[in-house]
Amino acid sequence: MLEKMIVKEELIKNMILTFCVIVLLFILFDVIIYNQVKHSLYENIDNELIQCANNYCLNIINPFDKQNPRMIYIIRDINENIINEKSIGRMYNDYLISLPFDKSLVNSLYTLNIANEYKYRGVTMQLENFEGIIAGYVQILANVDGETQTLNTLLGLLGLVTVILVIILVLVSYGLSRRTLRPIVESLKKQTEFVQNASHELRTPIAIIQAKQQLLLQEPNAKIIDKSEDISLVIKESKRLTKLIRELLILAASDSNNLELKKENINVDDLIKEITKSYIDFAKIEKKEINLDLNSNIYYSLDKDKISQLLIILLDNAIKYTKENESIEIKTYSKDSKIFIEVADTGIGISEEAKKHIFERFYREDKARSRENGGTGLGLSIAYTIVKLHGGYIKVLNNTPKGTRFIIKI
Ligand code: ADP
Repeated sequence: MLEKMIVKEELIKNMILTFCVIVLLFILFDVIIYNQVKHSLYENIDNELIQCANNYCLNIINPFDKQNPRMIYIIRDINENIINEKSIGRMYNDYLISLPFDKSLVNSLYTLNIANEYKYRGVTMQLENFEGIIAGYVQILANVDGETQTLNTLLGLLGLVTVILVIILVLVSYGLSRRTLRPIVESLKKQTEFVQNASHELRTPIAIIQAKQQLLLQEPNAKIIDKSEDISLVIKESKRLTKLIRELLILAASDSNNLELKKENINVDDLIKEITKSYIDFAKIEKKEINLDLNSNIYYSLDKDKISQLLIILLDNAIKYTKENESIEIKTYSKDSKIFIEVADTGIGISEEAKKHIFERFYREDKARSRENGGTGLGLSIAYTIVKLHGGYIKVLNNTPKGTRFIIKI
């Protein structure tokens, strides 16, 4: 639960950051495009205005004989009054009558918003007589409503595209973040489960040992023989605790990539013979049979201690989960320079559902029975880690006619 919340918080933070970066990038992109288009649209008009102003001042054209139909020429006297109303025509009475005039804008280009409706680019020139005295002003205006309309449409389009793309990108990045975070959530969950399971498993033997010892202390004069059952239980649980700690340390080392292989050339068949020696007698006592069918016969570069540990886990399990008069077979063979090791038994077998989980930490099909047998539920996950470290695989199949068959390929 906690890990889900932490990841959710991270996801939200990531989303906000992604959202801000995407929005900023798009705004920047829009501003650049808008200004670029605006500049190129107004550049043409400004060039035309400058040309007309120059032509007018050089007396190349007559103001009353306008050559560029787009331009409006407004002539003002020294008192800034318009003196060519007639040549301006209807536009004068419609809205140009209120045209503002700013002397400080002489010789510069500017934008005018007339009657809050019409947009013009303009240039103002000063008229001088032959003696160089100011005689009046000429204002040349070009209507840019078309350009403004184009720019407004562009702005609307950029806004719409930005909103759509931001939504799409945010959704895509949300989906991708969730996908990337999923394995992290899983591993966090597994980590928490592992710690919970480990502390639970450690607590049980400790609680039994403490309780039994307290009981023994309450009867200091009792004879050991009378309390042998309690004492042997304390010893059994202590052993269990030691085994559990050893296995937990192996898994912790593998999690932190500290589980290194010390490879050497070994003959697996010889190793199996050596390991099974002590098990064969033990199995006999339990009226079980161990058969060997060893054909690998080549030297392989493997970690001897870890392979021994792997074989012991499988052999231990095979003995644990078989009954009297049942048998265990260990088989080896080589194929394509790989070694195959099979450990099969005619025991209780593993259900299809359990097969999916047996390599998980602390998984036990029957917790009570496993505990009774001294099992910790960590054996097969250690076996899996050892095989993976060697670059191989381990799988579990049904044995025929009954029981379990583990196949390892390295
Ligand atoms: P445990 O210490 O409980 O044996 P393992 O990780 O070695 O833990 O095994 C996990 C579970 O897989 C066991 O609890 C048992 O249910 C099942 N299992 C493992 N080996 C065998 C086998 N040879 N036959 C039947 N069940 C097995």
